[in-house]
Amino acid sequence: MIKYKMDNILVSISENIDDLHELSQNNRDIITRSNNVGCFYCLNIYPSNQVNYFIDCEKTGLCVYCHVDSLIGDSVVKSNLKDVLIRMKIKYFSTIIT
Ligand SMILES: [Zn+2]
Repeated sequence: MIKYKMDNILVSISENIDDLHELSQNNRDIITRSNNVGCFYCLNIYPSNQVNYFIDCEKTGLCVYCHVDSLIGDSVVKSNLKDVLIRMKIKYFSTIIT
């Protein structure tokens, strides 16, 4: 479990994290339309054409690095992708230290 201090977190993103979380499921079309994908579990960002394993009847992409279904395509993100991934990791996978 990775822990973050809130002081270190950029908060200047405009995305709705919960909306993006829904787009991590059934996201094969989004992945196909995106140049890059980012994983909000392991925080790797890489070209979307590297995603080669899909679950849920081939509709949900798995991360190449950690095999978690936590991929966000950059075509649905307006803010900095890395910032968005960190915010999502905090919300869905981490314990927050304040
Ligand atoms: Zn990952």
